[in-house]
Amino acid sequence: MTARLLDGQALARQIQREITPQVADFTRRQGRPPGLAIVLVGHHPASEVYVRNKLKAGSDVGFRADLERLPESASLADVLALVERLNRSDAHDGILVQSPLPKVLGPDAASRVFDAIAPEKDVDGFTPANVGRMVQGRPALVACTPSGIIELLVREGIPIAGRRACVIGRSDIVGKPMALLLLQRDATVTVCHSKTPDLAGVCREADIVVAAVGRAGLVTKAFVKPGATVVDVGMNTVTDSAVAASLFPEEHPKLARFRERGSVLVGDVHPEVADVAGALTPVPGGVGPLTVTMLMRNTLRAAQARLAGSW
Ligand code: NAP
Repeated sequence: MTARLLDGQALARQIQREITPQVADFTRRQGRPPGLAIVLVGHHPASEVYVRNKLKAGSDVGFRADLERLPESASLADVLALVERLNRSDAHDGILVQSPLPKVLGPDAASRVFDAIAPEKDVDGFTPANVGRMVQGRPALVACTPSGIIELLVREGIPIAGRRACVIGRSDIVGKPMALLLLQRDATVTVCHSKTPDLAGVCREADIVVAAVGRAGLVTKAFVKPGATVVDVGMNTVTDSAVAASLFPEEHPKLARFRERGSVLVGDVHPEVADVAGALTPVPGGVGPLTVTMLMRNTLRAAQARLAGSW
């Protein structure tokens, strides 16, 4: 392996250390801590874990972090009423509605619920107001995963301006905002997706590759220019032994872990990429911890902006 590992976990801890005294200062001045409300509807096993991590991170930095739980049987009107209550709450500066919402709420439930969140409390950066502001380069609450990746690249001294960047994936929560943030930092950006011909050839032109697809090991050596920086957003649980064997050589500790547990968490980037990339984010321990930390930073910023009336 030659690639330098970009340690998202260590950077997340560093940013938390930077945030904590600012939270304490806010609390001292206001007589209350910044407040984060997380809405969880129904019982989705992965969401339970994500929400627990976010609540813990919130209380670790000194926030009031509240779980607002609704049952699986809740209607869309119930969810919207809860969001409205939190919009009006003086104690809550940030509102996050955990995705996915139960399918019974209908195909447009997520957009209806996100649209209902007050933009100044939209710490996920998903509302049209925040997305529009970001597109125009104005102050905004920006989606946590892409803003965490920019923070990582900047603090690791990886040049962005004037470089070619390739983003694989065009979702509203990762791919599109990622491409825009790289563009704002003067990269020349290509956005790829499932219909892109010669994906490997397009990616091989890039100095920075961001893979946000959700396909285990999609990005192989053939996608990566020697020395390029590769950011792996994907989080894929592999349960198929043939897939695990195609990703890891026989002696790899992750293959041993797979055989022990029957599953292993992997990214979109094939482990062989470590032999050609200049720098690489691991999975786990790369982008994931930064996403949670950016949520904390957005909540603090939302609290400070509400207080200053500057949103
Ligand atoms: P998504 O909404 O499913 O979007 C996936 C994107 O990948 C789509 O734009 C799709 O193209 C593209 N795609 C699918 N197959 C492809 C292929 N074979 N070649 C090229 N492009 C392909 O996913 P997402 O929400 O952006 O998440 C992506 C991954 O990141 C998932 O594994 C997710 O779990 C992970 N994630 C991690 C974090 C974190 O904090 N670490 C945060 C968010 C997401 P089309 O548009 O053409 O369909």
